[in-house]
Amino acid sequence: MYTDTLLHIDGVWTPGARGRVLEVLNPATGLVIGEVAHAEIEDLDRALVAAERGFQVWRRTSAHERYVLMRRAAELFRARADDVARRLTMEQGKPFAEALGEVKLGADLIEWFAEEGRRTYGRVIPARAGNVDSYTVREPVGPVAAFTPWNFPINQVVRKLCGALATGCSILIKAPEETPASPADLVQAFVDAGVPPGVVQLVYGIPAEISSYLVPHPVIKKITFTGSTAVGKHLAALAGQHMKRATMELGGHAPAVVFADADVDLAAKLLATFKYRNAGQVCTSPTRFIVQRPVYDRFVEGFLAYVKKLTVGDGLDPASRMGPLANHRRVVAMDQLVTDAASCGGKVAAGGYRIGERGNFWAPTVLLDLPARARILSEEPFGPVAPIVPFDTVDEAIAESNRLPYGLAAYAYTRSLANSHAFASQVESGMVSINHHGLALPELPFGGIKDSGYGSEGGVEGLEAYLNTKVITRANL
Ligand code: NAD
Repeated sequence: MYTDTLLHIDGVWTPGARGRVLEVLNPATGLVIGEVAHAEIEDLDRALVAAERGFQVWRRTSAHERYVLMRRAAELFRARADDVARRLTMEQGKPFAEALGEVKLGADLIEWFAEEGRRTYGRVIPARAGNVDSYTVREPVGPVAAFTPWNFPINQVVRKLCGALATGCSILIKAPEETPASPADLVQAFVDAGVPPGVVQLVYGIPAEISSYLVPHPVIKKITFTGSTAVGKHLAALAGQHMKRATMELGGHAPAVVFADADVDLAAKLLATFKYRNAGQVCTSPTRFIVQRPVYDRFVEGFLAYVKKLTVGDGLDPASRMGPLANHRRVVAMDQLVTDAASCGGKVAAGGYRIGERGNFWAPTVLLDLPARARILSEEPFGPVAPIVPFDTVDEAIAESNRLPYGLAAYAYTRSLANSHAFASQVESGMVSINHHGLALPELPFGGIKDSGYGSEGGVEGLEAYLNTKVITRANL
Protein backbone atom coordinates (compact mmCIF):
# COMPACT_ATOMS: atom_id res chain seq x y z
CA MET A 1 0.00 0.00 0.00
CA TYR A 2 2.82 2.44 0.89
CA THR A 3 5.45 2.87 -1.84
CA ASP A 4 9.06 4.05 -1.85
CA THR A 5 9.57 7.38 -3.60
CA LEU A 6 12.07 8.25 -6.32
CA LEU A 7 13.12 11.59 -7.77
CA HIS A 8 11.41 12.72 -10.97
CA ILE A 9 13.98 14.31 -13.29
CA ASP A 10 13.66 15.01 -17.01
CA GLY A 11 10.57 12.81 -17.37
CA VAL A 12 12.02 9.77 -15.56
CA TRP A 13 11.59 8.39 -12.02
CA THR A 14 15.12 7.83 -10.79
CA PRO A 15 17.17 7.15 -7.63
CA GLY A 16 19.69 9.78 -6.51
CA ALA A 17 23.10 9.76 -8.21
CA ARG A 18 24.76 8.11 -5.20
CA GLY A 19 21.84 5.86 -4.27
CA ARG A 20 21.34 7.52 -0.88
CA VAL A 21 17.89 7.28 0.73
CA LEU A 22 16.03 8.70 3.74
CA GLU A 23 13.61 6.70 5.89
CA VAL A 24 9.92 7.55 6.04
CA LEU A 25 8.09 6.95 9.35
CA ASN A 26 4.41 6.47 10.09
CA PRO A 27 3.70 9.08 12.81
CA ALA A 28 0.93 6.90 14.25
CA THR A 29 3.26 3.99 14.94
CA GLY A 30 6.79 5.40 14.78
CA LEU A 31 7.66 2.53 12.41
CA VAL A 32 9.58 2.85 9.14
CA ILE A 33 7.17 2.41 6.24
CA GLY A 34 9.39 3.22 3.29
CA GLU A 35 12.17 5.34 1.91
CA VAL A 36 12.69 8.33 -0.33
CA ALA A 37 15.55 8.95 -2.75
CA HIS A 38 18.06 11.66 -1.81
CA ALA A 39 19.16 14.08 -4.54
CA GLU A 40 22.81 15.04 -5.00
CA ILE A 41 24.10 18.22 -6.65
CA GLU A 42 24.60 16.29 -9.90
CA ASP A 43 20.90 15.35 -9.82
CA LEU A 44 19.99 19.02 -9.36
CA ASP A 45 22.23 19.96 -12.29
CA ARG A 46 20.42 17.49 -14.55
CA ALA A 47 17.08 18.80 -13.32
CA LEU A 48 18.09 22.42 -13.99
CA VAL A 49 19.07 21.65 -17.59
CA ALA A 50 15.77 19.82 -18.06
CA ALA A 51 13.82 22.67 -16.38
CA GLU A 52 15.19 25.17 -18.88
CA ARG A 53 14.42 22.84 -21.81
CA GLY A 54 10.98 22.07 -20.38
CA PHE A 55 10.26 25.78 -20.01
CA GLN A 56 11.05 26.45 -23.67
CA VAL A 57 8.61 23.69 -24.70
CA TRP A 58 5.87 24.59 -22.22
CA ARG A 59 5.89 28.35 -22.81
CA ARG A 60 5.21 27.63 -26.50
CA THR A 61 2.39 25.21 -25.69
CA SER A 62 -0.87 27.09 -26.16
CA ALA A 63 -2.90 28.08 -23.11
CA HIS A 64 -5.68 25.86 -24.44
CA GLU A 65 -3.43 22.80 -24.69
CA ARG A 66 -2.10 23.44 -21.20
CA TYR A 67 -5.69 23.63 -19.98
CA VAL A 68 -6.59 20.31 -21.60
CA LEU A 69 -3.58 18.56 -20.07
CA MET A 70 -4.15 19.99 -16.61
CA ARG A 71 -7.83 19.00 -16.70
CA ARG A 72 -6.75 15.46 -17.58
CA ALA A 73 -4.30 15.45 -14.63
CA ALA A 74 -7.11 16.59 -12.30
CA GLU A 75 -9.36 13.76 -13.50
CA LEU A 76 -6.63 11.15 -13.02
CA PHE A 77 -5.76 12.48 -9.59
CA ARG A 78 -9.39 12.47 -8.48
CA ALA A 79 -9.88 8.92 -9.76
CA ARG A 80 -6.94 7.79 -7.59
CA ALA A 81 -8.11 9.70 -4.51
CA ASP A 82 -8.65 6.71 -2.20
CA ASP A 83 -5.18 5.23 -2.74
CA VAL A 84 -3.43 8.58 -2.54
CA ALA A 85 -5.32 9.54 0.63
CA ARG A 86 -4.36 6.27 2.31
CA ARG A 87 -0.67 6.91 1.62
CA LEU A 88 -1.05 10.50 2.78
CA THR A 89 -2.52 9.35 6.09
CA MET A 90 0.21 6.76 6.55
CA GLU A 91 3.04 9.26 6.10
CA GLN A 92 1.47 12.40 7.60
CA GLY A 93 -0.99 11.10 10.19
CA LYS A 94 -4.18 13.07 9.44
CA PRO A 95 -7.49 11.13 9.51
CA PHE A 96 -8.34 9.42 6.23
CA ALA A 97 -11.41 11.65 5.70
CA GLU A 98 -9.20 14.76 5.92
CA ALA A 99 -6.64 13.21 3.59
CA LEU A 100 -9.38 12.42 1.08
CA GLY A 101 -10.58 16.02 1.36
CA GLU A 102 -7.06 17.25 0.66
CA VAL A 103 -6.77 15.11 -2.49
CA LYS A 104 -10.17 16.24 -3.76
CA LEU A 105 -9.44 19.90 -3.05
CA GLY A 106 -6.14 19.34 -4.87
CA ALA A 107 -8.05 18.19 -7.96
CA ASP A 108 -10.37 21.21 -7.68
CA LEU A 109 -7.35 23.52 -7.49
CA ILE A 110 -5.83 21.96 -10.61
CA GLU A 111 -9.09 22.52 -12.50
CA TRP A 112 -9.50 26.11 -11.34
CA PHE A 113 -5.94 27.08 -12.29
CA ALA A 114 -6.26 25.22 -15.62
CA GLU A 115 -9.30 27.30 -16.50
CA GLU A 116 -7.90 30.58 -15.23
CA GLY A 117 -4.69 30.04 -17.22
CA ARG A 118 -6.73 30.72 -20.37
CA ARG A 119 -7.50 34.22 -19.12
CA THR A 120 -4.05 35.75 -18.55
CA TYR A 121 -4.98 38.79 -20.59
CA GLY A 122 -2.79 41.75 -21.45
CA ARG A 123 -4.32 45.15 -22.27
CA VAL A 124 -4.31 47.80 -24.95
CA ILE A 125 -3.18 51.26 -23.79
CA PRO A 126 -4.39 54.36 -25.68
CA ALA A 127 -1.33 55.74 -27.47
CA ARG A 128 -0.19 59.34 -27.89
CA ALA A 129 -0.01 59.21 -31.69
CA GLY A 130 -2.42 57.90 -34.31
CA ASN A 131 0.03 55.47 -35.86
CA VAL A 132 1.16 53.90 -32.57
CA ASP A 133 -0.14 50.76 -30.86
CA SER A 134 0.80 50.26 -27.21
CA TYR A 135 -0.14 47.09 -25.37
CA THR A 136 0.96 44.68 -22.70
CA VAL A 137 1.41 40.92 -22.83
CA ARG A 138 1.79 38.54 -19.87
CA GLU A 139 4.75 36.20 -20.09
CA PRO A 140 5.74 33.28 -17.86
CA VAL A 141 8.49 34.26 -15.45
CA GLY A 142 10.58 31.14 -16.21
CA PRO A 143 11.67 27.98 -14.36
CA VAL A 144 10.44 28.02 -10.76
CA ALA A 145 11.97 26.41 -7.64
CA ALA A 146 9.32 25.44 -5.06
CA PHE A 147 9.88 24.34 -1.45
CA THR A 148 6.94 22.80 0.36
CA PRO A 149 6.26 21.45 3.89
CA TRP A 150 4.78 18.32 5.40
CA ASN A 151 1.48 19.56 6.88
CA PHE A 152 -0.42 19.48 3.57
CA PRO A 153 1.93 17.42 1.41
CA ILE A 154 -0.35 17.70 -1.63
CA ASN A 155 -2.03 21.06 -1.35
CA GLN A 156 1.13 22.99 -0.53
CA VAL A 157 2.56 21.64 -3.81
CA VAL A 158 -0.56 21.93 -5.92
CA ARG A 159 -0.99 25.70 -5.54
CA LYS A 160 2.60 26.33 -6.66
CA LEU A 161 2.58 23.66 -9.36
CA CYS A 162 -0.65 24.87 -10.92
CA GLY A 163 0.18 28.59 -10.75
CA ALA A 164 3.40 27.78 -12.61
CA LEU A 165 1.91 25.38 -15.15
CA ALA A 166 -1.15 27.46 -15.96
CA THR A 167 1.05 30.42 -16.90
CA GLY A 168 3.65 28.49 -18.95
CA CYS A 169 6.47 28.08 -16.38
CA SER A 170 8.34 24.87 -15.63
CA ILE A 171 8.72 23.92 -11.96
CA LEU A 172 11.27 22.04 -9.89
CA ILE A 173 9.69 21.02 -6.58
CA LYS A 174 11.59 20.18 -3.39
CA ALA A 175 8.80 18.43 -1.52
CA PRO A 176 8.93 17.29 2.13
CA GLU A 177 11.17 14.31 2.91
CA GLU A 178 8.88 13.29 5.79
CA THR A 179 5.82 12.93 3.52
CA PRO A 180 7.15 12.14 0.04
CA ALA A 181 4.75 9.60 -1.48
CA SER A 182 1.63 11.73 -1.83
CA PRO A 183 3.39 14.61 -3.65
CA ALA A 184 4.88 11.94 -5.95
CA ASP A 185 1.32 10.69 -6.64
CA LEU A 186 0.38 14.23 -7.64
CA VAL A 187 3.33 14.50 -10.02
CA GLN A 188 2.47 11.06 -11.45
CA ALA A 189 -0.99 12.35 -12.43
CA PHE A 190 0.66 15.10 -14.51
CA VAL A 191 3.13 12.63 -16.04
CA ASP A 192 0.27 10.31 -17.00
CA ALA A 193 -1.70 13.23 -18.40
CA GLY A 194 1.20 13.87 -20.81
CA VAL A 195 3.20 16.78 -19.38
CA PRO A 196 6.49 17.02 -21.39
CA PRO A 197 9.80 16.07 -19.68
CA GLY A 198 11.36 18.83 -17.60
CA VAL A 199 8.10 20.73 -17.05
CA VAL A 200 7.33 19.17 -13.64
CA GLN A 201 10.20 17.75 -11.62
CA LEU A 202 10.42 16.51 -8.04
CA VAL A 203 13.41 16.16 -5.73
CA TYR A 204 14.10 15.36 -2.08
CA GLY A 205 17.24 15.62 0.03
CA ILE A 206 18.68 18.07 2.54
CA PRO A 207 16.45 21.18 2.33
CA ALA A 208 19.18 23.74 3.08
CA GLU A 209 21.58 22.13 0.62
CA ILE A 210 19.00 22.11 -2.18
CA SER A 211 17.72 25.65 -1.59
CA SER A 212 21.21 27.15 -1.32
CA TYR A 213 22.02 25.61 -4.70
CA LEU A 214 18.77 26.31 -6.54
CA VAL A 215 17.87 29.82 -5.35
CA PRO A 216 21.02 31.53 -6.72
CA HIS A 217 21.18 29.35 -9.86
CA PRO A 218 20.76 31.41 -13.06
CA VAL A 219 18.24 28.97 -14.57
CA ILE A 220 15.79 29.57 -11.70
CA LYS A 221 13.78 32.78 -12.14
CA LYS A 222 11.29 32.51 -9.27
CA ILE A 223 11.25 31.03 -5.75
CA THR A 224 8.19 29.95 -3.84
CA PHE A 225 8.36 28.67 -0.26
CA THR A 226 5.86 27.54 2.36
CA GLY A 227 7.12 26.91 5.89
CA SER A 228 8.34 28.68 8.99
CA THR A 229 8.99 32.42 9.17
CA ALA A 230 12.62 31.83 10.19
CA VAL A 231 13.41 29.76 7.10
CA GLY A 232 11.29 32.07 4.92
CA LYS A 233 13.31 35.12 5.95
CA HIS A 234 16.52 33.27 5.16
CA LEU A 235 15.29 32.22 1.69
CA ALA A 236 13.78 35.66 0.94
CA ALA A 237 17.14 37.27 1.74
CA LEU A 238 18.91 34.80 -0.55
CA ALA A 239 16.35 35.46 -3.30
CA GLY A 240 16.89 39.21 -2.82
CA GLN A 241 20.64 38.88 -3.19
CA HIS A 242 20.09 37.24 -6.57
CA MET A 243 17.17 39.47 -7.61
CA LYS A 244 14.77 36.52 -7.87
CA ARG A 245 11.05 36.98 -7.55
CA ALA A 246 9.68 35.24 -4.48
CA THR A 247 6.42 34.16 -2.87
CA MET A 248 6.57 33.43 0.87
CA GLU A 249 3.76 31.60 2.71
CA LEU A 250 4.97 31.54 6.30
CA GLY A 251 3.72 31.03 9.81
CA GLY A 252 0.75 32.62 11.56
CA HIS A 253 -0.93 32.82 14.96
CA ALA A 254 -4.47 33.61 13.91
CA PRO A 255 -6.71 35.59 16.26
CA ALA A 256 -10.28 34.32 16.56
CA VAL A 257 -12.37 37.07 18.18
CA VAL A 258 -15.79 36.13 19.56
CA PHE A 259 -17.90 39.19 20.32
CA ALA A 260 -20.68 39.10 22.92
CA ASP A 261 -23.32 39.45 20.17
CA ALA A 262 -22.11 36.37 18.29
CA ASP A 263 -23.85 33.05 17.87
CA VAL A 264 -21.58 31.71 20.62
CA ASP A 265 -22.51 28.05 20.25
CA LEU A 266 -21.81 28.15 16.52
CA ALA A 267 -18.52 29.96 17.13
CA ALA A 268 -17.38 27.39 19.72
CA LYS A 269 -18.27 24.47 17.47
CA LEU A 270 -16.71 25.84 14.27
CA LEU A 271 -13.60 27.25 15.89
CA ALA A 272 -12.92 24.01 17.80
CA THR A 273 -13.48 21.98 14.63
CA PHE A 274 -10.97 24.04 12.66
CA LYS A 275 -8.52 24.39 15.54
CA TYR A 276 -8.01 20.61 15.81
CA ARG A 277 -8.13 19.84 12.08
CA ASN A 278 -4.84 18.22 11.01
CA ALA A 279 -3.98 18.16 14.75
CA GLY A 280 -3.60 21.95 14.60
CA GLN A 281 -0.75 21.81 12.06
CA VAL A 282 -2.32 24.37 9.74
CA CYS A 283 -0.82 27.81 9.09
CA THR A 284 -4.31 29.36 9.02
CA SER A 285 -5.61 27.53 12.14
CA PRO A 286 -7.49 29.76 14.57
CA THR A 287 -4.96 29.73 17.43
CA ARG A 288 -5.61 32.67 19.77
CA PHE A 289 -9.19 32.61 21.03
CA ILE A 290 -10.12 36.10 22.22
CA VAL A 291 -13.61 36.09 23.72
CA GLN A 292 -15.69 39.01 25.04
CA ARG A 293 -16.21 38.62 28.79
CA PRO A 294 -20.05 38.27 28.93
CA VAL A 295 -19.90 35.12 26.72
CA TYR A 296 -16.50 33.81 27.83
CA ASP A 297 -17.79 31.01 30.09
CA ARG A 298 -20.34 29.84 27.57
CA PHE A 299 -17.74 29.77 24.79
CA VAL A 300 -15.27 27.81 26.95
CA GLU A 301 -18.02 25.33 27.86
CA GLY A 302 -18.94 24.77 24.19
CA PHE A 303 -15.29 24.46 23.15
CA LEU A 304 -14.52 21.95 25.93
CA ALA A 305 -17.62 19.92 25.07
CA TYR A 306 -16.27 19.52 21.52
CA VAL A 307 -12.77 18.62 22.78
CA LYS A 308 -14.10 15.94 25.13
CA LYS A 309 -15.79 14.17 22.20
CA LEU A 310 -12.74 14.33 19.94
CA THR A 311 -11.47 10.77 19.33
CA VAL A 312 -7.72 10.66 18.85
CA GLY A 313 -6.11 7.73 17.05
CA ASP A 314 -4.48 6.32 13.95
CA GLY A 315 -5.82 8.22 10.94
CA LEU A 316 -6.64 4.94 9.19
CA ASP A 317 -9.08 4.00 11.97
CA PRO A 318 -12.49 5.33 10.84
CA ALA A 319 -13.30 6.30 14.45
CA SER A 320 -10.38 8.77 14.64
CA ARG A 321 -11.25 12.45 14.38
CA MET A 322 -7.70 13.64 15.13
CA GLY A 323 -4.48 11.86 14.24
CA PRO A 324 -0.94 12.08 15.61
CA LEU A 325 1.38 15.03 15.12
CA ALA A 326 3.38 14.59 11.93
CA ASN A 327 6.76 14.35 13.64
CA HIS A 328 8.30 14.05 17.08
CA ARG A 329 9.53 17.69 17.01
CA ARG A 330 5.94 18.85 17.37
CA VAL A 331 5.39 16.64 20.47
CA VAL A 332 8.42 18.26 22.11
CA ALA A 333 7.11 21.73 21.12
CA MET A 334 3.64 20.99 22.62
CA ASP A 335 5.23 19.77 25.84
CA GLN A 336 7.29 22.95 26.13
CA LEU A 337 4.32 25.26 25.47
CA VAL A 338 2.07 23.50 27.99
CA THR A 339 4.80 23.28 30.67
CA ASP A 340 5.50 26.98 30.22
CA ALA A 341 1.78 27.87 30.48
CA ALA A 342 1.33 25.81 33.64
CA SER A 343 4.49 27.19 35.23
CA CYS A 344 3.29 30.76 34.82
CA GLY A 345 -0.07 30.09 36.43
CA GLY A 346 -2.19 28.97 33.43
CA LYS A 347 -4.91 26.35 33.91
CA VAL A 348 -4.87 23.21 31.75
CA ALA A 349 -8.62 22.72 31.24
CA ALA A 350 -8.25 19.76 28.86
CA GLY A 351 -5.42 17.54 27.63
CA GLY A 352 -1.90 18.78 28.20
CA TYR A 353 -0.15 15.43 27.78
CA ARG A 354 1.26 13.00 25.26
CA ILE A 355 -0.97 9.98 24.66
CA GLY A 356 0.94 6.71 24.99
CA GLU A 357 4.55 6.01 24.07
CA ARG A 358 3.99 4.87 20.50
CA GLY A 359 3.57 7.43 17.73
CA ASN A 360 3.26 11.21 18.15
CA PHE A 361 -0.17 11.53 19.76
CA TRP A 362 -0.93 14.63 21.81
CA ALA A 363 -4.22 15.11 23.65
CA PRO A 364 -6.34 18.05 22.42
CA THR A 365 -5.45 20.76 24.90
CA VAL A 366 -7.22 23.86 26.19
CA LEU A 367 -5.39 26.50 28.27
CA LEU A 368 -7.18 29.15 30.38
CA ASP A 369 -6.23 31.93 32.86
CA LEU A 370 -3.02 32.71 31.02
CA PRO A 371 -0.83 35.69 31.88
CA ALA A 372 0.28 37.79 28.90
CA ARG A 373 3.82 36.41 29.18
CA ALA A 374 2.74 32.80 28.45
CA ARG A 375 4.65 31.70 25.35
CA ILE A 376 1.55 30.15 23.74
CA LEU A 377 0.06 33.65 23.39
CA SER A 378 2.96 34.78 21.20
CA GLU A 379 4.40 31.62 19.59
CA GLU A 380 2.60 29.76 16.82
CA PRO A 381 1.57 26.44 18.38
CA PHE A 382 1.33 24.41 15.15
CA GLY A 383 -0.35 21.69 17.18
CA PRO A 384 -3.53 20.89 19.14
CA VAL A 385 -3.11 23.44 21.95
CA ALA A 386 -5.73 26.22 22.28
CA PRO A 387 -5.38 29.26 24.56
CA ILE A 388 -8.62 31.13 25.36
CA VAL A 389 -8.41 34.66 26.80
CA PRO A 390 -11.12 37.24 27.66
CA PHE A 391 -11.47 40.85 26.46
CA ASP A 392 -13.72 43.82 27.28
CA THR A 393 -13.75 46.43 24.48
CA VAL A 394 -13.61 46.22 20.70
CA ASP A 395 -10.42 48.29 20.62
CA GLU A 396 -8.83 45.87 23.07
CA ALA A 397 -9.72 42.89 20.88
CA ILE A 398 -8.29 44.53 17.77
CA ALA A 399 -5.11 45.59 19.58
CA GLU A 400 -4.64 42.03 20.85
CA SER A 401 -5.28 40.63 17.35
CA ASN A 402 -2.60 42.92 15.89
CA ARG A 403 -0.07 42.52 18.71
CA LEU A 404 2.08 39.89 17.02
CA PRO A 405 4.32 40.24 13.96
CA TYR A 406 2.19 37.66 12.09
CA GLY A 407 -0.64 38.51 9.68
CA LEU A 408 -1.89 35.43 7.86
CA ALA A 409 -5.50 34.62 8.85
CA ALA A 410 -7.95 36.27 11.26
CA TYR A 411 -11.43 35.17 12.37
CA ALA A 412 -14.33 36.93 14.04
CA TYR A 413 -17.82 35.95 15.15
CA THR A 414 -20.41 38.70 15.59
CA ARG A 415 -23.94 39.61 14.51
CA SER A 416 -23.12 43.32 14.55
CA LEU A 417 -22.27 45.13 11.34
CA ALA A 418 -20.26 47.68 13.33
CA ASN A 419 -18.06 45.04 15.02
CA SER A 420 -17.70 43.17 11.79
CA HIS A 421 -16.62 46.32 9.96
CA ALA A 422 -14.25 47.39 12.73
CA PHE A 423 -12.57 44.00 12.71
CA ALA A 424 -12.39 43.56 8.93
CA SER A 425 -11.01 47.03 8.34
CA GLN A 426 -8.54 47.20 11.22
CA VAL A 427 -7.14 43.71 11.60
CA GLU A 428 -3.66 43.32 10.09
CA SER A 429 -4.07 40.11 8.15
CA GLY A 430 -3.94 38.83 4.58
CA MET A 431 -7.15 36.82 5.06
CA VAL A 432 -10.23 37.52 7.21
CA SER A 433 -13.16 35.17 7.71
CA ILE A 434 -16.25 36.32 9.62
CA ASN A 435 -19.00 34.05 11.00
CA HIS A 436 -17.77 31.04 9.07
CA HIS A 437 -14.57 29.29 8.07
CA GLY A 438 -14.36 30.29 4.45
CA LEU A 439 -10.68 30.46 3.47
CA ALA A 440 -8.45 28.43 1.12
CA LEU A 441 -10.88 27.90 -1.75
CA PRO A 442 -9.25 27.86 -5.22
CA GLU A 443 -10.83 31.14 -6.32
CA LEU A 444 -9.81 33.08 -3.18
CA PRO A 445 -6.39 34.72 -2.80
CA PHE A 446 -4.33 32.89 -0.18
CA GLY A 447 -1.47 34.70 1.53
CA GLY A 448 -0.26 36.80 4.41
CA ILE A 449 1.34 40.09 5.37
CA LYS A 450 3.97 41.13 7.97
CA ASP A 451 6.06 38.14 9.13
CA SER A 452 3.57 35.76 7.51
CA GLY A 453 5.13 36.52 4.13
CA TYR A 454 4.10 38.04 0.83
CA GLY A 455 2.48 37.02 -2.42
CA SER A 456 -0.61 34.95 -2.96
CA GLU A 457 -1.34 31.36 -3.93
CA GLY A 458 -4.99 31.42 -4.89
CA GLY A 459 -7.39 33.38 -7.06
CA VAL A 460 -6.10 35.38 -10.00
CA GLU A 461 -3.31 36.62 -7.70
CA GLY A 462 -2.03 33.04 -7.67
CA LEU A 463 -1.29 33.32 -11.39
CA GLU A 464 0.09 36.86 -11.19
CA ALA A 465 2.90 35.43 -9.09
CA TYR A 466 4.23 33.55 -12.13
CA LEU A 467 3.81 36.25 -14.78
CA ASN A 468 5.92 39.14 -16.03
CA THR A 469 4.30 42.10 -17.75
CA LYS A 470 5.91 43.19 -21.00
CA VAL A 471 4.87 46.46 -22.60
CA ILE A 472 5.16 46.78 -26.36
CA THR A 473 4.77 50.06 -28.17
CA ARG A 474 4.95 50.09 -31.95
CA ALA A 475 4.85 52.88 -34.53
CA ASN A 476 3.15 51.45 -37.62
CA LEU A 477 5.38 52.82 -40.37
P1 NAD B 1 11.49 24.05 9.91
O1 NAD B 1 11.50 25.52 10.06
O2 NAD B 1 12.77 23.31 10.09
O3 NAD B 1 10.96 23.63 8.46
C1 NAD B 1 9.78 24.13 7.89
C2 NAD B 1 9.79 23.68 6.42
O4 NAD B 1 10.86 24.33 5.75
C3 NAD B 1 10.05 22.20 6.23
O5 NAD B 1 9.24 21.74 5.17
C4 NAD B 1 11.52 22.11 5.87
O6 NAD B 1 11.81 21.02 5.00
C5 NAD B 1 11.74 23.39 5.13
N1 NAD B 1 13.08 23.94 5.26
C6 NAD B 1 13.81 24.08 6.38
N2 NAD B 1 14.98 24.67 6.12
C7 NAD B 1 15.01 24.91 4.78
C8 NAD B 1 15.93 25.52 3.90
N3 NAD B 1 17.11 26.03 4.33
N4 NAD B 1 15.62 25.59 2.59
C9 NAD B 1 14.45 25.12 2.13
N5 NAD B 1 13.52 24.54 2.90
C10 NAD B 1 13.79 24.45 4.22
O7 NAD B 1 10.46 23.53 10.92
P2 NAD B 1 9.58 22.22 11.09
O8 NAD B 1 9.96 21.58 12.37
O9 NAD B 1 9.53 21.35 9.90
O10 NAD B 1 8.18 22.92 11.27
C11 NAD B 1 8.05 23.78 12.39
C12 NAD B 1 7.49 25.09 12.07
O11 NAD B 1 7.42 25.38 10.69
C13 NAD B 1 6.07 25.17 12.55
O12 NAD B 1 6.05 25.59 13.87
C14 NAD B 1 5.44 26.17 11.64
O13 NAD B 1 5.61 27.46 12.17
C15 NAD B 1 6.24 26.10 10.40
N6 NAD B 1 5.52 25.45 9.30
C16 NAD B 1 4.65 26.22 8.61
C17 NAD B 1 3.93 25.65 7.58
C18 NAD B 1 2.95 26.48 6.81
O14 NAD B 1 2.02 25.93 6.26
N7 NAD B 1 3.16 27.81 6.72
C19 NAD B 1 4.09 24.30 7.28
C20 NAD B 1 5.00 23.55 8.00
C21 NAD B 1 5.73 24.13 9.02
